[in-house]
This record gives sequence, structure tokens and C-alpha cells, in this order.
Amino acid sequence: MNPHIQLRNNGDIRQYPVNSIYCVGRNYLEHAQEMQSKLPAAPIIFLKPNSAVVTSETSLVFPKEKGQVHHEVELVVRISQDGRRIDKREAWNYVDSYCVGIDFTLRDLQSDLKSKSLPWLLSKGFDQSAAVTEFQPIESPETFESLEFYLEKNGKLKQDGHSNEMVFDVPTLLAFLSRTITLREGDLIYTGTPSGVGPVRSGDEVTIGIKGQETATFTIG
Ligand code: MG
Repeated sequence: MNPHIQLRNNGDIRQYPVNSIYCVGRNYLEHAQEMQSKLPAAPIIFLKPNSAVVTSETSLVFPKEKGQVHHEVELVVRISQDGRRIDKREAWNYVDSYCVGIDFTLRDLQSDLKSKSLPWLLSKGFDQSAAVTEFQPIESPETFESLEFYLEKNGKLKQDGHSNEMVFDVPTLLAFLSRTITLREGDLIYTGTPSGVGPVRSGDEVTIGIKGQETATFTIG
């Protein structure tokens, strides 16, 4: 069975199944710099299987034998209707909600795969690597234009970002992706991480949030 996300609307919580999970690499300038990478000319897209979805109710257990796991806090949007060749100006009609999430990454494994020009899948798609919080409705595009989001590890601020700092904004990402792949209702898009990524270890508590909204804490088992 596909995992579900929770969407809160006027106090009413509903569950929706997750379909494909698309993620965007290097979508914030300072994160590209900390990875010693250039900004891409076009969005870098990779996938996680939907089996990777996890919520904060679970203690997270990662395949530690494969090296360091890094946190990457990101804004995540949910696709609300099928679409192909989406016009950028129509893109917000295909998104109904957002949350803050974490794209957990096996960094040592990713570096090794990158150095061999191999796909990143195993470093990005492992179990519990796609952390999500409760989704909030997007009433209008402006809802999404001024979101400040952050990640704290054991009470210390490690990452913070703003939705208007993305290299490729949500309409550009939807238009770009849907030129090649039909987007489906229930797809999630992780929109990239700001700088400050770093390792998590057993016993760490990782709290993420959007300024002015509730936070969620993930415990690393
Ligand atoms: Mg990421």
C-alpha cells in the first residue's frame, strides 16, 4: 500500500496517498557552494521511492553501515491533479499544499556514486529518507512566496532558508519536469535545501519548522 501524507484544511485532517517523489538538487546558491558545485543551468532531478516516506511519529533508523547520513531541510509541495506540458503560468493550479520535510542523504555513498558517475538512488532513496510533516493548503501563490523554514539539531540552528531564494521556483520546476514526465496527483516535489547540511547520529533530535507554524521533531534511533 502507498504511504499517506496528512493534509490539514480548516481543522479537518485528511490522508492522501503518496505517488512518486521528485527531488531537486542544488536549488539554493549557498548549498551549491558548500558542496563545491556550480549552480546548474537546468534543474537537477532525482527520485525517491514512496516507500521512503516517514513522519515524525516514528524513530528513524538508517543504514549506518553505509556512512554518514546528512539532513537536508526542504519545502515540499504536493501535486493535486495530473498534468503534462504544464504552462508555467498555470503551474499553481497543479499544487494544493506544502510542508517542510527532510531529504535525508547517505553523503559518503552519494560522494562515491558521484565520483563514479553512477545514479544517486541508493544514497537518496533508502527507507525513511523522505521525512514529511503535516501539509498545509496553498490558498494562493503568495502563500508560498514568503516562507522561512529552518532545521535545528539538538536545539541548535543548523539550516534556514526562504522560499524566494530558490534558483528554480515551483512553477519553473513543474513546467520543466512535466515536459518529460506526466505529473500525477499525489506526487511530491522536494524543492532543494539551503546551506548548512550536516550529519545526524543516533540519539539526535532534529526539529524542523516554518516560521509562525508548528514544528515537528524527528528522533534518530
Ligand atoms: Mg536535497
